[in-house]
Amino acid sequence: MTTEAAETAGAVVVDERTALEAALVELDSRPQTQFRFVATRAATIEERAERLGAEDLVMRARLLRATALVREGRSEQGGQRVHQVLAWAQEHDHPFLLARAHRMLSIFYRQIGDLSEGLSHAVQGFANLSDDEPQTIRARHLMTLAVALDESGSTEEGDRRFREALTIAAAIGDHELAMNILNNMAYTAFERDDEDGARELVRHLRVVQARCGRPFGSLELDTIARIEMMSGNYAAVEETLHVILDDSASAVLNHEGDAPAVCLLTLAEARRLDRRYAAAQEALDAAAALAEERGLDRVRAQAREEQAALFAATGRYQEAYQEHRAFYAAANALHSMQREAQARALQAVFEATEARRASEHFREMAHRDALTGLWNRRYVNERLPALLSEAVAQRTPLSLAILDLDHFKRINDTLSHSTGDTVLQEVSRLLTDAVSGPMIAARIGGEEFLLVMPGLAAEEAAERCERLRLRIRAHTWEPLTGTLPVTTSIGVTTAAQGRATPSSLMSLADRNLYVAKREGRDRVVADL
Ligand code: GH3
Ligand code: MG
Ligand code: MG
Repeated sequence: MTTEAAETAGAVVVDERTALEAALVELDSRPQTQFRFVATRAATIEERAERLGAEDLVMRARLLRATALVREGRSEQGGQRVHQVLAWAQEHDHPFLLARAHRMLSIFYRQIGDLSEGLSHAVQGFANLSDDEPQTIRARHLMTLAVALDESGSTEEGDRRFREALTIAAAIGDHELAMNILNNMAYTAFERDDEDGARELVRHLRVVQARCGRPFGSLELDTIARIEMMSGNYAAVEETLHVILDDSASAVLNHEGDAPAVCLLTLAEARRLDRRYAAAQEALDAAAALAEERGLDRVRAQAREEQAALFAATGRYQEAYQEHRAFYAAANALHSMQREAQARALQAVFEATEARRASEHFREMAHRDALTGLWNRRYVNERLPALLSEAVAQRTPLSLAILDLDHFKRINDTLSHSTGDTVLQEVSRLLTDAVSGPMIAARIGGEEFLLVMPGLAAEEAAERCERLRLRIRAHTWEPLTGTLPVTTSIGVTTAAQGRATPSSLMSLADRNLYVAKREGRDRVVADL
C-alpha cells in the first residue's frame, strides 16, 4: 500500500467510526416508543462496530438492543444483557454507558418488582450523567429517578424530579418527552389515589398531545382510562380505549410489550363494574389471547384474577373459585419467575464484579512479592524503562539503590528460617515507611531490595539511603534476633538526567554495593 492509500484507509476508518457514532447518538435521542426501530438499527451498527474493532460503540449498540428487550417485557434476557454492558462500562470507567446502563437497570428492576434496586440504579444512572449530556437525556434520567423515588414511597422527592424533567422538556420543546413525563406523573397520582391531581395532569397531557399531534399510545390511554374509572365514568373509559379494539395493530405496534394487553384488562374491568358482562368477557378474552401470544406472564395472571371476578359477578361461584385458584397458581409462578430473574441478575452482577476483582487481583499479585508485599522484580523491569524516559523528557535525575542485608545467613542458621522471614518482613515495613511519592520499594531477591527514586539527585538519594540504613540498624531487633544485629549495605547510583539504561543503572548500583560489603558492611556507597 502506498502512503497515500494508507492515509485514505485511515481516513475511511475514522469516517466509519464518526458515522457509527453519529448514528448511535441519533438513535439514543429517539423517543422510547420507537424502541423496536432503534433495536433493528442498533443491530446493524453493532456488526459494523465489531468489524471496526470499536468496542465502546459495540457496547453502546448492545445497550440499545437490550433496552428493547426490557421494553418488550422480555425482562430477564434484557436485564442480563444490560448487566453485561454495565460490567464493561465499570471496567472501562465509561460514564456515558454507566449512566445509561444504570437507568435501564432501574427500569428492569422495577419491572421485576425490586423497588429498592430500581431506586439504587436510578440514582447511579443520574449520578453518572456528565454536564455536557443533551437536555433530553438529562430529563429522561430525572424522570426515571422520579418514578423510582415515587414507587419507593418518596413522593415529594419524586415530584420535584418530575417537575424538573418537565421544565426541561418544555424548554427544549420535546413534546414526546413531555407526554411521557406527564403520563408517568398522572399514573403515579392515580396509584396514590389522588384523583384531582391525576385529572389535572391528564388535562395537561391532552394540551401537549394536541400541540404535538402524536396520537396517544396504549400506555397513555391506559392511564387516562384508569383515572376515568376512579369516579365510575365507564363511558369515558370505553371512549378512551375503543381505539385499542378498533385498531389494535397500529396501537400495538409501537408500544411497550404489555401495554395493549393491559389496556384490554382495564376495559374488561370497567365493563364488569358497569355490569356489561358479555362485553367484559370479550375484552378479557382478547387480553388473555394477547398475553398468550406474547408470553406476558404478568398479564396472564391478572387476566385470571379478572376472570374470577367476572364469574363471581355473574353468580358463577364454582367457576370463580376455580379461576381464583388458577390465578394464585399463575401469580405464584410469576413470583418465582421474578425471583429467578432477580437471582440471575444478581448473579450477573456478582460474576462481573468477581471477574473484575479477580483480574485486578491477579494483575496485582503478578507484581507483588508474596512474602513481604513489596513490588517484585518483574514490576521493576516493567516500570523502570518508562521512569527513565520520563526523567529524560523532563531532564530530571533518577536514583537507584540496591540494599543487601548483612550476614543474613547467620540469622537463618543461628535462629531459624522463619525468624529470617520475619526479619525480611520487618525490613520491608521500614522500607515502605521510607518511600514516598513516586518512589518504588521492591524485593528483588532473597535478602536484596531495590529503591527507585525518580527526581532524586545523587546527594539527596545518598542521604535518604543513609537515613534508611540508620533506621534499620536502630530498629528494636532484640525480641526477634536476640544479640544478632540486623544491618544493611547499600549501593546507590544516579542518572543525572535519566540518561542511562535499566541494566547500566543496576550494575552501577551493584558495583557500589560490592564496595560497601568489601569495606566492612553496614554502610552506603554512592557514585564517586
Ligand atoms: P552478606 O553480608 O555478604 O550479604 O552475607 P549474607 O549471609 O547476607 O549473604 P548470602 O548471599 O551468603 O546469604 C543470603 C542468605 O539469605 C542465604 C539464604 O539462606 C537467605 N535467604 C534467601 N532468601 C530467603 C528467604 O526468603 N527467607 C529466609 N529466611 N532466608 C532467605
Ligand atoms: Mg545477598
Ligand atoms: Mg546479604
